[in-house]
Amino acid sequence: MSSDAAREPKLYDTLIVGGEVVDPDAGLGGPLDVAIRDGRIAEVAPNLDRMAAREVVDAAGGYVTPGLIDLHTHIYWGATYWGIEADPVAARTGVTTWLDVGSSGAYSWPGFRRYIAAPSRVRVFALLNLSSIGLIAPTWEFSNLDYCDIDLAQTMVEANRDLILGIKARIDANTTRGVGIRPLELARELADRVELPLMVHIGNGPPTLAEVSHLLRPGDILTHCFTGGNMRIVDDAGVPDPAIMALREQGLVFDIGHGTGSFSYQTAEAMLNAGVMPDVISSDIHQMAIQGPMFDLPTTLSKFLNLGLSLPEVIARATSRPAAAMRRSDLGSLRPGSPADVALFRIEEGEYVFRDVHMNARRGSQRLINTLTMVDGEALPRIPESPLHPWATLPEWQRGVRAPEEDRIEA
Ligand SMILES: [Zn+2]
Repeated sequence: MSSDAAREPKLYDTLIVGGEVVDPDAGLGGPLDVAIRDGRIAEVAPNLDRMAAREVVDAAGGYVTPGLIDLHTHIYWGATYWGIEADPVAARTGVTTWLDVGSSGAYSWPGFRRYIAAPSRVRVFALLNLSSIGLIAPTWEFSNLDYCDIDLAQTMVEANRDLILGIKARIDANTTRGVGIRPLELARELADRVELPLMVHIGNGPPTLAEVSHLLRPGDILTHCFTGGNMRIVDDAGVPDPAIMALREQGLVFDIGHGTGSFSYQTAEAMLNAGVMPDVISSDIHQMAIQGPMFDLPTTLSKFLNLGLSLPEVIARATSRPAAAMRRSDLGSLRPGSPADVALFRIEEGEYVFRDVHMNARRGSQRLINTLTMVDGEALPRIPESPLHPWATLPEWQRGVRAPEEDRIEA
């Protein structure tokens, strides 16, 4: 290209051609080109003029989706037990918006803002932990109610509404150790005061699911919704809990939050058999879960593809649906005018073994693989990931887990 040609003004900065667009909630699907200008989606239409673009990206044979939104992540690297670094993982998974859920409480929020949110290439938002100490330690954050300072938490939310999109409370036997349901009552009060969604984590109680469910409201998020723990939302006969289902009818959001402890094929299959799909498919990625059997968000999405959801159903649950749950429907879409957060994927066909957190195996024939990730119209570079922390060991039964393409079901 001559220097004159390089300086010639072009209509588009980047044109992604030849791919199949998947953005069902925006009404966009099929063989369409995606044009980007000034960091925003300029146009989505068939056969756009390649000569009008400074750069052309060939997506033939693949899928073009909005950048993924992961509604359940832990990215407070270096200050918490769980946190990983978002940018290097984003570049290989297509996740352009990361909601960190409860890693920071009031005392650690300023550090999250300065050291994590500010320098990240990806979009970072957070749910503030009701516990002022957040997730510095693996658990027990509510076992001392002195840390449940709702006035202080409210002050932090009011001053940081650009980044704090809701409240997080992990409610299970370990997090609350001995104090019962009280932290959830306080989290309810905090969420009501600041008028933001409350994300509640369930697992192994006490408390019981019934104690939790009467403190949930429409617009709240029930994460680990397909847990196999004793707070699971489906009974042994495969019947979903009526109180939880009634809440969901009114707008309670079912979020997967796979992690190392919270995705059970038995629960998932029972719920899907009962005709209930999750609203959002998220990873709960952290220092342990990244080692498998969760691995990353595309692997988690692949599990749902192989459970029978269609590609558009799966993609909506990791783009527009989490955007709506975060009340940020300006994100997670390829609609013209949206920020140009874009992910390219291909589907690899083969014989794979996927596992839930109990290491129960299911065969699958499709694996979703990210090939390019763009934020504000710029491709994220693939950069090395920091080594895992010395304490980041998988539960004993998950050790030695292999990637789906390398796994074999032993006879
Ligand atoms: Zn989590």
